[in-house]
Amino acid sequence: MLPDLDELYKEVILDHYRNPRNSKRLEDPQVKAHGFNPFCGDEVDLQLRLNGDGAVHEVGFQGRGCSISQASASMLTEELKGKTLEQAEAVRQLFRRMMMGEKLTSDEMESLSSLTVLSGVRQFPVRIKCALLAFSALEDGIKEYRGGKK
Ligand code: ZN
Repeated sequence: MLPDLDELYKEVILDHYRNPRNSKRLEDPQVKAHGFNPFCGDEVDLQLRLNGDGAVHEVGFQGRGCSISQASASMLTEELKGKTLEQAEAVRQLFRRMMMGEKLTSDEMESLSSLTVLSGVRQFPVRIKCALLAFSALEDGIKEYRGGKK
């Protein structure tokens, strides 16, 4: 069930929820992430393949759960392509700050591009975890990747 978000938010979230982007499982990903939100049972799995320059070349996403968790994961996959893991981390941090209610500069908002639509979720504090799920999973996945690559 969707909380009473503005129409644009609803439209974008439902579109991603119904037609998740990069909805496939990648073989031999360098970065793997799994996230689970016990509050509403949301689950996401992400896989990233990097190119020789360390930038994200391909993203895979599978998941189930509420519309906000699945839509934010789908939107995140679109933002990741072409970014290095450092850039992905920067986006994750900015997104988290936005969701926690911090005021971002217009440059910062711009670098979040379409993800800013999800700021509407802030009106529903219990759903913030849903919106952050894929981002937290990504953080863990990147840590694991760096830890294993010595
Ligand atoms: Zn949820």
